[in-house]
Amino acid sequence: MEKDIKTKSGLLTSSNKEEVPWILSEVNSILKKRRGSATRTYGRHAIILMSGGMDSSVLAGLLIDKTDFILHPLFIRRGSRAQKWEERGHDYFYKFYSEKYPNRFNHGKKITVEVPPLELKKYRNREQLKKYGHPMRNVVLQSLGVQYAANLSSELNIDIRTVFTATVPDDSFPHSSLLALRTTTLLACIESGDWQWNVSSPLLDNTVLGQPYNKAELIKYAINKKIPLERTRTCIEKGEDPCLRCPECLSRVKAFETAGVPYV
Ligand SMILES: [Zn+2]
Repeated sequence: MEKDIKTKSGLLTSSNKEEVPWILSEVNSILKKRRGSATRTYGRHAIILMSGGMDSSVLAGLLIDKTDFILHPLFIRRGSRAQKWEERGHDYFYKFYSEKYPNRFNHGKKITVEVPPLELKKYRNREQLKKYGHPMRNVVLQSLGVQYAANLSSELNIDIRTVFTATVPDDSFPHSSLLALRTTTLLACIESGDWQWNVSSPLLDNTVLGQPYNKAELIKYAINKKIPLERTRTCIEKGEDPCLRCPECLSRVKAFETAGVPYV
């Protein structure tokens, strides 16, 4: 009889650092067997999910600087409390990159899809939400990226099969892992019958930029390249000014401390 998979919390894996490593190597090996590589990206075009936050706003700059990808950003009005400010951040960076690099950053799209739907967002167990996040939230956002890729491919008569998201190593939910991203890639390939899909975060998957980037490293890079971090929105609360109390605010403050630069 097969033994239970052992992680720190038994069969429940409560963080992206806890999952047993052989699962990632098995998923990688399925992709490698089927298409020759687990991580290869096909073509120069990529969709990038942009939220107006720090990680995705800096990731776009990194990809323009260090790779030859042509990026097509997707902003999802997902019904968050801070949506208005997130959208304002996104709009600033859309203009910032598309005016500077019109051939590398273009065909942006905004869509309105509640993720998760408001009716399904109420939990009795707040602790569970804090630890695991909304189940399948990221995969829904990434699937919308895949759908935009298919839609724009047909509009431009090209093949876009890469979707980038900005998961950083600092994130801790189980869905913020290379395994989750690789599994979404596998699902996109199987579901569409097209084995060229790649859904990944270049900040976690060092095959794209040659190294992973955590939040502190993103901050240092942004300052060096004069990317205006004060225009990004991190706080998940409703007010215009960051609350400096929510987990996202605290993680931003900590990242500035680690980077050794004043918080903005
Ligand atoms: Zn906050």
